[in-house]
Amino acid sequence: MKSNGDILIASSNKGKLKEFKKLFKNHKVFSLSDLNIADAIEDGDSFLENAIIKAKHGAKESKIYTIADDSGIVVPKLDYEPGIYSARYAGEGASDKDNRDKIIDKLIEKKHESLEAFYVCVLVGLKSPNDPMPIVTQGEIHGRISINSSGEGGFGYDKIFYPDGYDCSMASLEQQIKNKVSHRAIASEKFIKLFNSSYDTFL
Ligand code: IMP
Repeated sequence: MKSNGDILIASSNKGKLKEFKKLFKNHKVFSLSDLNIADAIEDGDSFLENAIIKAKHGAKESKIYTIADDSGIVVPKLDYEPGIYSARYAGEGASDKDNRDKIIDKLIEKKHESLEAFYVCVLVGLKSPNDPMPIVTQGEIHGRISINSSGEGGFGYDKIFYPDGYDCSMASLEQQIKNKVSHRAIASEKFIKLFNSSYDTFL
């Protein structure tokens, strides 16, 4: 039974849900599949647009407070690719390895061993689909994308992303450290502060 104070995380990604459940431990947290809601069609042109599309869809279908995120990796010197297409850079249904191989091929083609890159995460929180004052936060982690793969942890582009200030890839960072310094951790930390300070006003 849904009630005031419940939260929908507009995602079906189990890893993300686990992280959000930890952050919102005083709330009952639902996923899209818990409420039998289909994924939204992400047809925006920016991380922000896609996060808003996902949050609006979730809030409309669930009628409870909805949080959506959109994330990816950006390489400014590759014309901001893969950007919002990070999950399907090498095509619909591409594996993480296919996507990494595509970016490595581009680096080799342009004769770079590595290039500046950053991960971005945008979070949007909506009280209802018509909420005129969504909570919006953004987190980034900067570093370099490289043709050299290393590490066994993480997912996506982590094996070829080397964050500034560390001499290893994101896939080699301990999970506890990644959870503190990642784009998602930074966006979530900012979000929770705003959420807690405005929480009483939306009940
Ligand atoms: P989405 O936000 O679930 O749409 O994720 C977009 C894509 O960005 C993922 O499928 C990954 O390829 C990439 N990505 C986002 N965050 C990370 C991360 O923390 N590590 C590695 N890849 C990521």
